[in-house]
Amino acid sequence: MREDYDSQMLYQTTRGAAPELDFTGVLLTGLARDGGLFVPSHWPKFSVQDWQAMVGLPYAEVAKKLMAPFVEGSIPQADFAAMVDDTYRNFYHPAVAPLTQIGGNEWVLELFHGQTIAFKDYALQLLGRLFDYSLTRAKRRAVIVGATSGDTGSAAIEACRDREAIDIFILFPHGKVSEFQRRQMTTVTSKNVHAIAIDGSFDDAQAIVKGLFNDHDFRDEVGMAAINSINWARIMAQIVYYATSSLSLGAPSRQVDFVVPTGNFGNIYAGYAARQMGLPIGRLVLATNQNDILARWLASGTMATAPVKPSISPSMDIQISSNVERLIYELFDRDSTRLNGFMTEFAKSGKASMPDGIMSNLRTLFHGHAVDDKTTLETMRSVYDSTGEKLDPHSAIAVHALLLERSGSESPAEKQAALVALACAHPAKFADAVTRAYGQPVPPPKFLSGIESRPERNYHLPGTTTAVKEFIRNKINQG
Ligand SMILES: *Cc1c(COP(=O)(O)O)cnc(C)c1O
Repeated sequence: MREDYDSQMLYQTTRGAAPELDFTGVLLTGLARDGGLFVPSHWPKFSVQDWQAMVGLPYAEVAKKLMAPFVEGSIPQADFAAMVDDTYRNFYHPAVAPLTQIGGNEWVLELFHGQTIAFKDYALQLLGRLFDYSLTRAKRRAVIVGATSGDTGSAAIEACRDREAIDIFILFPHGKVSEFQRRQMTTVTSKNVHAIAIDGSFDDAQAIVKGLFNDHDFRDEVGMAAINSINWARIMAQIVYYATSSLSLGAPSRQVDFVVPTGNFGNIYAGYAARQMGLPIGRLVLATNQNDILARWLASGTMATAPVKPSISPSMDIQISSNVERLIYELFDRDSTRLNGFMTEFAKSGKASMPDGIMSNLRTLFHGHAVDDKTTLETMRSVYDSTGEKLDPHSAIAVHALLLERSGSESPAEKQAALVALACAHPAKFADAVTRAYGQPVPPPKFLSGIESRPERNYHLPGTTTAVKEFIRNKINQG
């Protein structure tokens, strides 16, 4: 630890076989060398008074207060504050993450007011700045490799384009992201940006990225860093909007519960983190599409993969949710041996079970609902009819799950709690589903118009680690 800090946050890995790192180490490492995910060694706690003091503050100010303990000992406060200000100044709604009311005590949290109009911007815009800052201070460069089911890719590219210290390679499943999403990636022609279509599913693309990270020689050779939601810094930045929205709705003196459209479990895990830090969150509802491994796990106690079935909410067409490992680690009281047992079993047989006691504890906080395409479209229409709000399909899944919760058997505390569904993308991103629901597409915000006619730069590779490795080597050696 440097002498000018009072304390330092350290991070441990879920698998327990790699050394603890500080924030900058975790930022630049991504996936730990033992294959695990980094978690903070303890949860910073905020008191009722601390939360009260944040009521009414601008988004960036809450962000600085909540994230300060996580970067403590790695980044000087003034430098960090400047990056946070610069990040959220560039969002195109003055509230950054505004709430809209869709019922008496039901709300939608709009998280699509960033550069690529999905919630990924809220974390990745900060991450791009943190990477550039930390790499420049360390006088080195990094190769960022990530897999995307649609929205991460463009948000990561937008956050990293033209940054001196970074080359970025984004893998997306060929033909399985929306045209708008693809264009948001392939029309960026900056020299340091490479969007690559991969044969296979998102899970295949993610497996390639994991394979590259687990090849330590290659990882060191090119200086790889991760921008997927396994990167702790993304979770950290996502904690903030749980806080700003809760505080707007009466926290800390009122319970506020959240419904989160869930794929890789990064967003909802940030809600869990917010609760660990003292926010009065009573329920975290995970909403999935027909790719419902998490909802089935919650119901049955067994996590079992199934083939990915393409849906109209492609950003959640995922069967292996990386971040759930962080939650399972907590459920096992941070016992890496038990975590390893569970993950090894799951990797080997595609299936692993948790003890009943742990599951019933888990169900007091986490609820789950799977929503099919037909219900998603119906929800898009009915919400529009009753409120005039046009939702994207992912957000509609959350809203449907919200309505199920409200009409279900709620406890007295739950009945009184404000219920917030996260709207994770702008409807313009999903023209096909939106046209099916509303008869016509929803136009994107002005700054994105014209994207449909810009030239694309297409790379297409077979879904193998070898092909991707070779491609990355070639590109970075071209300089
Ligand atoms: C990424 C994404 C999700 C899934 O979020 P996770 O953090 O991976 O669970 C849901 N909806 C949209 C629109 C997304 O872009």
